[in-house]
Amino acid sequence: MQKPNHDIPFGHIEECQICGAKGLEPVINLGHQPLCDSLLTTPQLNEPEVSYPLALVRCPQCSLVQLDYVVPGDVVYYPDYPYRTGITRELFNHHQRLSVDVVERHKTPVDSLVVDIGSNDGTLLKGFARQGMRVLGVEPTNIAQIAVEDGIDTVQDFFGESVAEEIVKQHGKAKVITATNMFAHIANLGDMIRGIEVLLDDDGVFVLENHYLMDIVGGLQFDSIYHEHLRSYSIKPLVQLFGYYGLSVVDAHRVASYGGSVRVYVVRDKIARPTQGLVNMIAEERDFGLYDADVYNEFRSRALKAKRNLYNLALEAESSGVRFVGNSCPGRASTLLNYVGLGCDLMPYIAEQPTSLKLGRYLPGLHQPVVNNSILFSEQPEYVVLLAWHYWEPIRADLRKRGLKSKFVLPLPELRIIED
Ligand SMILES: [Zn+2]
Repeated sequence: MQKPNHDIPFGHIEECQICGAKGLEPVINLGHQPLCDSLLTTPQLNEPEVSYPLALVRCPQCSLVQLDYVVPGDVVYYPDYPYRTGITRELFNHHQRLSVDVVERHKTPVDSLVVDIGSNDGTLLKGFARQGMRVLGVEPTNIAQIAVEDGIDTVQDFFGESVAEEIVKQHGKAKVITATNMFAHIANLGDMIRGIEVLLDDDGVFVLENHYLMDIVGGLQFDSIYHEHLRSYSIKPLVQLFGYYGLSVVDAHRVASYGGSVRVYVVRDKIARPTQGLVNMIAEERDFGLYDADVYNEFRSRALKAKRNLYNLALEAESSGVRFVGNSCPGRASTLLNYVGLGCDLMPYIAEQPTSLKLGRYLPGLHQPVVNNSILFSEQPEYVVLLAWHYWEPIRADLRKRGLKSKFVLPLPELRIIED
């Protein structure tokens, strides 16, 4: 099998990121949008703001669903990138369970080396460290420093072949390599997989976890489309991708994080025994229609309907003179609000928890201030839109317990107003 170039060039792309085929077909065009995590400071409000095409396309050959524009990684993951895993309780718990599952499943011996790519604040590695593993993070942004201060050894860099060689020299090969919520994000996919080939021990396992196309399409999560997410994976194209290298996908299953993700296990070809679970998942994807155009045409019209419903509710609130505000500012809030076109005149602010690194900044494109959520309790707005709607239940419970009486609005997969 001839290997296409997986070190994907920046800018507009016309060839599939995995198989190299041309003739990519449109799925949904969300317009030009700014980078969803590039929140603005007050002085930046008076400066020009850059936006990039944000359109999803699909490959009719290998079925990969992907963006048709690649923003350079050092622009997206600038040193002060404000995303932190450890502050979301659900994610913290999820990472702890992941570390236990991997060690049990692969019977990883104590004192093995575990390397996490895109290790963020070290949350996942702490779980492995508690089980007696040697751990090392690789993280390009300044969040690496938070991990280091917490005692998690971290290389501040983008992972690739040369970083992998350096790690092998200093620490030996890894029994476990993990990449959660980042394998869909990087443009230099080829360099990263070559790095995994260098670093992975003969009987080691590479575990990747990312948002899952089945959940995005089934759950109408078009708001999880942003410039960071270059590829929205289903299993079939991933099997094809690793097939170009000396690696094989052996197992996969669905997990609940980020509104629906998939966890995929990859080992060296020579020890690969694909499981029935993997075969079943590919059959399920085919039955659902993930490899056909129809499902995406329906996705597009459902997204338009959701946009209309949310915008109309905001207009109604404005004309009745009641407050309509946002709560939580995950990356997806930017995609949703910019696509719907809900500016400060219709949604005056977005409330965030007091520990958020986004407080005091402004949403890209629309410029809502991100404010401490204590404002909700003094103001008691008529409507609070839960922008982290994929985690709405614990958020609702917490805000109610603290005395918030507002109606909650779930914007997707279809508009819901929750009064209790
Ligand atoms: Zn393809």
